[in-house]
Amino acid sequence: MSPNLTAAVIGSGFGGLAAAIRLQSAGFQTTIFEKRDQPGGRAYVYRDDGFTFDAGPTVITAPHCLEELFELSGRKLADYVDLIPVEPFYRLKWEDGYSFDYGASVEETLAQIELKAPRDVEGYQRFLAYSQKVFDEGYTKLAHVPFLNWWSMIRVSPQLARLSAHRSVYAQVSKFIADPHLRQALSFHSLLVGGNPFRTSSIYTLIHYLERKWGVFFPRGGTGALIQGLVKLFQDLGGRVELNAEVERLDESGGSIRSVVLKTGVTVETDLVVSNADVMHTYGTLLKRSPRASRQTARLKKMRYSMSLFLIYFGTKKQYPEMAHHTVLFGPRYRELLSDIFQHGHLSDDFSLYLHAPTRTDPALAPPGHEAFYVLAPVPNLSLSTVDWAVEGPRYAQKILAYLEERYLPDLRKNIVTQRLFTPQDFEHELNAHHGSAFSLEPILSQSAFFRTRNKDQNIEGLYFVGAGTHPGAGIPGVVNSAKATVGLIQKDFARV
Ligand SMILES: Cc1cc2nc3c(=O)[nH]c(=O)nc-3n(C[C@H](O)[C@H](O)[C@H](O)COP(=O)(O)OP(=O)(O)OC[C@H]3O[C@@H](n4cnc5c(N)ncnc54)[C@H](O)[C@@H]3O)c2cc1C
Repeated sequence: MSPNLTAAVIGSGFGGLAAAIRLQSAGFQTTIFEKRDQPGGRAYVYRDDGFTFDAGPTVITAPHCLEELFELSGRKLADYVDLIPVEPFYRLKWEDGYSFDYGASVEETLAQIELKAPRDVEGYQRFLAYSQKVFDEGYTKLAHVPFLNWWSMIRVSPQLARLSAHRSVYAQVSKFIADPHLRQALSFHSLLVGGNPFRTSSIYTLIHYLERKWGVFFPRGGTGALIQGLVKLFQDLGGRVELNAEVERLDESGGSIRSVVLKTGVTVETDLVVSNADVMHTYGTLLKRSPRASRQTARLKKMRYSMSLFLIYFGTKKQYPEMAHHTVLFGPRYRELLSDIFQHGHLSDDFSLYLHAPTRTDPALAPPGHEAFYVLAPVPNLSLSTVDWAVEGPRYAQKILAYLEERYLPDLRKNIVTQRLFTPQDFEHELNAHHGSAFSLEPILSQSAFFRTRNKDQNIEGLYFVGAGTHPGAGIPGVVNSAKATVGLIQKDFARV
């Protein structure tokens, strides 16, 4: 390989950073071009009135895939960031008062199931064994392997059939578990990667085993500290990060990528581009002049996009020590609420929420005696709903905060000292996310592996993808594994150069 090869990575999400680190470690002179004023993408950080709010990912799993990025150059993750184990992994709460702590110990999980639904104890053991099998096939063998042709898909079809991949997460959980609360407790995970448990392939039950295998972590200083660690590693290796550097278009000629053109008018020549930006944004906007991109653009237009999210980041002058770090608050409806969000595009009066309370693990994220939170509600993406979030956002926020106050956080509203919102329209404008989707393409079987955006474009030489819209999909382990798949392809392609 020539020593002077250059690579441009568009976007500094977890996937973009992981790809950039792998490329730089492999000898490509790599530059990241990031639209926003901070790296991290969905893992942006707000610093408001002495509070630190991680904007997005908070549940850090599969730390080995992050470790690997440091090991490529003989370094150690622990020298860059401190990952703290979180226990319980999640506290799950329902309106009828039932609460389930789900954590590392299988024995404790079994003891709670025994109390709630003794007949499901044996079913849970079988579910765990099933989840492990899916993990062995779906994660260990396939998460970092690109699917570029039909043959790659046909080869894995027998395994997928054996694991009932055609069934939904919820249907598969229900084969093992009868209790309605426990069915929710064991099926909500696909929502963490943008999938409706009633439509997403049961392959996503692997998340249950993945969490059990390695645990759940939170970086000291917040997820932003992990991003800073990755940026430092990349820069220590000699890589360059350009912030406030939105890419306006990609120049392609003769079927090969030639250069990246920034909004500022600056043109940067490059041997290859890895796009970590939204896949539709990349084909439909950055490559809109290229006839070779039009087929992909048309295809992506027809695909289904994951739900969006409505987020409130808030700091309180009162502390709530009874709350766990991660709490899922189930509303009165499950299947129907998810249909409203994923199919009907209806903003419901009820909601299910995820409440993040990072100061339970790291009090330094708020001023002394204060507490930092965010709460998120899954909501329809902008292709399904016509809600004007500039108007509805503040109303919806009041409704959610009143609900939290009434049921879980007494006196909340009079103790809030800082607050900000992030809506589906912000996903669209800030992150260039098609339809304001929070997790890119919906993770259904017909949009997975070979059917997702390929890690390498088939018509334009030198164009590659990394991140939530390509294989294997959203979530930190997903996008970090996508970088391994993609850079593996690049290394093969350029070994000849
Ligand atoms: C609120 C929320 C909570 C989540 N919680 C978890 C969790 O707890 N655990 C977990 O594992 N996953 C979680 N996820 C999912 C996970 O965060 C994402 O799947 C993952 O971070 C996406 O990474 P990515 O590599 O696809 O890039 P992204 O984070 O999507 O970053 C893409 C970057 O590209 C930039 N960009 C776009 N267009 C351009 C352009 N033209 N020029 C330059 N730059 C551009 C954007 O500004 C952005 O920085 C969560 C997601 C959200 C939204």
